[in-house]
Amino acid sequence: MYQWEELKKFADSCTRCPLCRTRKHSVMGQGNLKAGIMFIAEAPGRKEDEQGVPFVGPAGQMFDRLLKEAGLERNQVYITNIVKCNPPFNRDPSEEEQSACIPYLKYETLLIRPKVIVCLGRIAAQRIISPDFRITRQHGLWTERKGYWLTAVFHPSALLRDPSKTEGAVQDFLAVRRKLDELSL
Ligand code: SF4
Repeated sequence: MYQWEELKKFADSCTRCPLCRTRKHSVMGQGNLKAGIMFIAEAPGRKEDEQGVPFVGPAGQMFDRLLKEAGLERNQVYITNIVKCNPPFNRDPSEEEQSACIPYLKYETLLIRPKVIVCLGRIAAQRIISPDFRITRQHGLWTERKGYWLTAVFHPSALLRDPSKTEGAVQDFLAVRRKLDELSL
């Protein structure tokens, strides 16, 4: 079983997909390695690529705001992405790139052993919950699978583009809080 530091080292020198050619830094997940909750987005953005840290910049600030609404802070959660390198021009990661990178996420999940997994946005929800997941209709719904409680919420970047979605996102984060309380996490 790999430790987080080993996974990071592998990702730093990884050439499993073409994103290695354009990245500045790979961006491993980050946070509390004993967290009961893991957030998964699709890919690091440009700012994350520059700094090698997930969820910095305006989307990161929006994420922190939503966490706060749920009475949570970064040091209580683990946050990661389906792919660890920034797709050029912030495009969606391809199926092939996602498949090449998914072993990292599997190891992270084995390491953290979260009880609750929250997908941030459509791409993560379609990869983790169901290929036909519709984020507009199905955000905030819960499903239990193999001992994990799964849900999806709007990606913080989507809220920056369309602030009318923010109230729905706040409600979803409050529901995440209730789920954590229900599970005594
Ligand atoms: S995205 Fe994942 S698989 Fe592709 S090069 Fe980066 S770390 Fe490796």
